[in-house]
Amino acid sequence: MTNEENDCVFCKIVRGEMPCHKIWEDENFLAFADANPVVEDHTLVIPKKHFSSLSDINEEICCGYIGAIKETGKILVKKCNADGFNVALNNGEAAGQVVNHVHFHIHPRKKGDGLKLSFK
Ligand code: AMP
Ligand code: ZN
Repeated sequence: MTNEENDCVFCKIVRGEMPCHKIWEDENFLAFADANPVVEDHTLVIPKKHFSSLSDINEEICCGYIGAIKETGKILVKKCNADGFNVALNNGEAAGQVVNHVHFHIHPRKKGDGLKLSFK
């Protein structure tokens, strides 16, 4: 394990060293509730293997990622009776990425919820 993986907060969640509220997982991906939700049921989808950003992921993760997001979105829509969801990625520090383990944000949405998600 590299020092980066050892110190990474999302790797710690994958290793079971930190708690999370799990939404879904398969062999390669884990979806869990964001600790600071900007909307109810705000969820993060990560590969279980450490990659710093989307720019670094390998072919296998690249191919499976959309399926993992789709599956998580389906579960969230059912769970919170949502009408849709936003998918967001902050890729790199300049784009607002704080945790250096690639993660897509999923924000469940309801018709007329008035939520304005803006790029700062
Ligand atoms: P980003 O700016 O895209 O890197 O977002 C990082 C996200 O990770 C933020 O929305 C945080 O609230 C979330 N986060 C950080 N630590 C944890 C944690 N231990 N469990 C769940 N979410 C976390
Ligand atoms: Zn990591």
